[in-house]
Amino acid sequence: MGRMSLKRKNMFASVRVATLAAAVFLLPGCAPSSGELVVYSARVEALIKPILDRYTAETGTQVRFVTDDAGPLIERLNAEGANTPADILLTVDAGELWFAAERGLLQRVDSPVLAASIPESLRDPGNRWFGFSLRARTIAYSSERVDPAMLGSYADLADPKWRGRLCLRTSKQIYNQSLVAMLIAEFGEPRTEEIVRGWVANLATDVFSSDVKLLEAIAAGQCDVGLVNTYYYGRILREQPEFPVKLFWADQSGSGVHVNVSGAGVTAHARHAAEARRFLEWLAGAEAQGLFARVNLEFPVSPAVELDPIVAAWGPFKQNPISVAKAGELQADAVRLMDRAGYR
Ligand code: FE
Repeated sequence: MGRMSLKRKNMFASVRVATLAAAVFLLPGCAPSSGELVVYSARVEALIKPILDRYTAETGTQVRFVTDDAGPLIERLNAEGANTPADILLTVDAGELWFAAERGLLQRVDSPVLAASIPESLRDPGNRWFGFSLRARTIAYSSERVDPAMLGSYADLADPKWRGRLCLRTSKQIYNQSLVAMLIAEFGEPRTEEIVRGWVANLATDVFSSDVKLLEAIAAGQCDVGLVNTYYYGRILREQPEFPVKLFWADQSGSGVHVNVSGAGVTAHARHAAEARRFLEWLAGAEAQGLFARVNLEFPVSPAVELDPIVAAWGPFKQNPISVAKAGELQADAVRLMDRAGYR
């Protein structure tokens, strides 16, 4: 994520506000009124539009959205300041939400509905952001070359028995930064560094740019085990039910699978703050939870909501109870640690 100097930020601010205002307010039927919302979404249109459409159908609220990567959206919010048209910031990974909150871009929402529906470990302790779907980062293995009885925890993938057999995604992407941050929260830095060094020593090949490439590498026999978010595996299974890779729920006799969230918060300068809060409360409801989780084959944050059959087939798992806020708090430490350990 680029960190622009203040001067450059200000320079871009006016351009961005003008462009965005044009993009947003020249759309048909967009005269500002109550009953409308503007969402900045780091989730792509295919994943977010069905949910926003449903909300509009149920409430009559017109929702407009801008999609981009989280970094540029957060920079844009920051540059626009009080002039932002955005009411909601929606991103994947608690690390991004934490970062936006730390920069003062999200406001506190004290909602009994959100507090009751979203487990404490999946929302900001300061109520500035909330997880609405849960993603699990766990072990994927070759169903042809690995006996799952050999598998265990994340730390176990550092064992020499996996020498030349492990695939990892790059450390430059936030998912493994968040995972390592949460390992630091659990084990402390010295032990986590030992684990990460062990992973690096076990690598079969250079790191991958995506979880999908990693899964394909396991299927192709380049390596035997790796770490992935389960929805990437689910998407492959939907197309190729015979894909020769399986999931293993990590650390079930220890602290459990590391989870993260996709989530949202109300922007600090939201023009429709009450409406934005109503939207977040709707996202926490049973119907939206099902939809929000199913469009991307994730898990609802609210228990007792139906899973997609592909996801349900993987069976239940114990999840690590560490707050996902740690992914943000310890992210810089995680990045330094991975660098020291030679994890590219
Ligand atoms: Fe993803």
